[in-house]
Amino acid sequence: MGAPVGRFAPTPSGRMHLGNVFAAMVSWLSVKRDGGEWVLRMEDLDTLRTSEEAARMIREDLRWLGLAWDRETAPQSRRSGAYLRYFEKLADMGLLYPCYCTRSQLHSVNAPHLSDGTYVYPGTCRGLSGAQRAAVGRAPAWRVRVPEETWRFSDLCQGAYAQDLATECGDFVVRRADGVYVYQLAVTVDDGEAGVTQVVRGADLIGSAPRQMYLQALFGFPHPEYGHVPMLLSADGRRLSKRDRDLDMGALRSRMTAQALLGYLAAASGLIDRAEPVSPAELAGEFAWEKLRKADLRLDAAMMGSLE
Ligand code: GLU
Repeated sequence: MGAPVGRFAPTPSGRMHLGNVFAAMVSWLSVKRDGGEWVLRMEDLDTLRTSEEAARMIREDLRWLGLAWDRETAPQSRRSGAYLRYFEKLADMGLLYPCYCTRSQLHSVNAPHLSDGTYVYPGTCRGLSGAQRAAVGRAPAWRVRVPEETWRFSDLCQGAYAQDLATECGDFVVRRADGVYVYQLAVTVDDGEAGVTQVVRGADLIGSAPRQMYLQALFGFPHPEYGHVPMLLSADGRRLSKRDRDLDMGALRSRMTAQALLGYLAAASGLIDRAEPVSPAELAGEFAWEKLRKADLRLDAAMMGSLE
């Protein structure tokens, strides 16, 4: 196998927090240990929540950390032409159908839901006739049919993972009623066209991997390796989010050096024994997936305290 191609695909909706930095760091270390390439991509499908200013700050924070990228591919907001081509492929395969369900209808169904908060779609609009469709009189979302098939992979961090798309997800939306392509389609097309062979990101996205693997198979892209890294929790057990402004890069950069920050994350996640300042290149020499902890990482009070 050739050298890996990894990527970091942040949503530029604000400054990175420590959890984003951790995912970026592990992705970078994993590909750089093996002399691979690291690709940066801004996931700004949601143009109302994202901005060029936030994208600029993410690039600047990555530079400060010393996590250099080899190329940046086009942001998702400029890729709708590419997404349309793949959407049409699905249509040509007869796999798409329009869905008129409203948000409240979807939420009122008594269906179990996935860890990412989406509901298992019961197939309500799967069998609508042309006349029924015409009668609705508003723009539909488009769903792709999923077969009864279990998708399995061996995650570099979490180990064996399996999901039956039909019973655990259902037919899923690839284009919303307002014409915006959804993350699952965009990420599959972008990673596939960029030749990404290793996807490293937060463990909250592991449940998305089977949908992406299904689309990869339909589009003719090889499956990448996946590594879903632990989430970071604050000392009181909350998941870090961009709303926790006190843990964003602005606060971090004013309080510690980049190498101290990387050393802290590497020690907290099991990559090194003691939290000492360390450069990305030194850490890459030490990197091994086997050392990385699987479970969510709770930041210690001292770390949190130093950021207050
Ligand atoms: N854009 C997503 C985020 O910032 C990451 C998606 C991915 O890595 O596939 O959380």
